[in-house]
Amino acid sequence: MQIEKYTIGTGDRFAHQGLAQLKATLKAREAGIQVYPVWNKSNREHTIVGSKPDDLRAEADAAVAALGWKEAYYVDADHIGLKTVDAFIEASDFYTLDVADFTGKAAKQEALDSFVATMGKYIGSLSIPGIERPFEISKDTVAAAARKFLLAVQEAGRIYRYVAEKKGRNDFVTEISVDETDTPQTPVELFFILAMIAGEEIPAQTIAPKFTGRFNKGVDYVGDLAQFEKEFDEDLSVIAFSIKEFGLPATLKLSVHSGSDKFSLYPIINRLIKKHDAGLHVKTAGTTWLEEVTGLAESGKEGLELGKEIYREAYAHFDELTAPYATVIDIDRSKLPTPEAVQEWDSAKYVNTLRHVQSHPDYNQNFRQLIHVGFKVAAKMGSRYTDALKANEAIIARNVTENIFDRHIKPIFS
Ligand SMILES: [Zn+2]
Repeated sequence: MQIEKYTIGTGDRFAHQGLAQLKATLKAREAGIQVYPVWNKSNREHTIVGSKPDDLRAEADAAVAALGWKEAYYVDADHIGLKTVDAFIEASDFYTLDVADFTGKAAKQEALDSFVATMGKYIGSLSIPGIERPFEISKDTVAAAARKFLLAVQEAGRIYRYVAEKKGRNDFVTEISVDETDTPQTPVELFFILAMIAGEEIPAQTIAPKFTGRFNKGVDYVGDLAQFEKEFDEDLSVIAFSIKEFGLPATLKLSVHSGSDKFSLYPIINRLIKKHDAGLHVKTAGTTWLEEVTGLAESGKEGLELGKEIYREAYAHFDELTAPYATVIDIDRSKLPTPEAVQEWDSAKYVNTLRHVQSHPDYNQNFRQLIHVGFKVAAKMGSRYTDALKANEAIIARNVTENIFDRHIKPIFS
């Protein structure tokens, strides 16, 4: 199974927006953009919401059938490991092997030594086409990369072989993710990680490193744009070189996690994938849930009341809801409106505060991030929430489609 050049990961917390999401890729077709959908959902999200991998497969298949989509689409077992993969074997054909927890722990000395030995030819001055100055590689550089990442890639190998044994090695796409680590990976580290992946004989087609800067949930990138650009540019050169050098799949491409809403990065990413003629996968997840709340608020009446209730509950359970996301959100509590103030808002005020239009004077990224992590509140509401989704389907669907197409697919891929 070979992944297409451009793919977009569309997470969907409550599994009601498959159709609206697929409509965004259809709109892309009409605009001449060849992007393919990947429905991704992690074990963590399934657990919080109370859904199963089979539900996501059913949602994707139903959307595809309803709209007559004849092209490729995927269902991604997002951030799985050996402990969680079993539930995803039937439903998924895309596996994101998350080995971040294994980084920084050393593999057996023998394996480390053997990796350093096989990398001997790169010690010295390493020139990679597309990168201006050569990298100076010492034996220590290689040994340090091995100590940091070899155990993790060995674990990825174990997960890959496990899935391959159950599904047949040609029937799925493999992604390796090391994005949920404490520090970003440098292009040189990426090069050695790819060498290790080849050494484990994993036919990885997407790789998700941790990039420099903050990829906070549901809001724009925070960091040094010039530094990001340099790093992303070099990562693309490293991937192209590694494909040839290590015999990795020609389809291998970068995967950007927490990729939604990083509006200031999109012009850079767009320019660089064109420059390198490179593929790209971008994962979005919570952005669709935020559009559900936006749509509910826009509908006025009960939908707006539900939106206010979600905020009130999220505000009351701030510590509990934000704790699991501490490293990927930045909420200034002093800039959060009180629930009493929000109670007085009309539909337009709520929508404009939440919707990701940074130029709007009412937009509040603190409010947006708190709602982002507040999906647990809606999950607890159960059918009261999902019934509201059904009752306001048209208005929500319009928000979901517009968000994915206009604010994501267009600036990233067109
Ligand atoms: Zn991720």
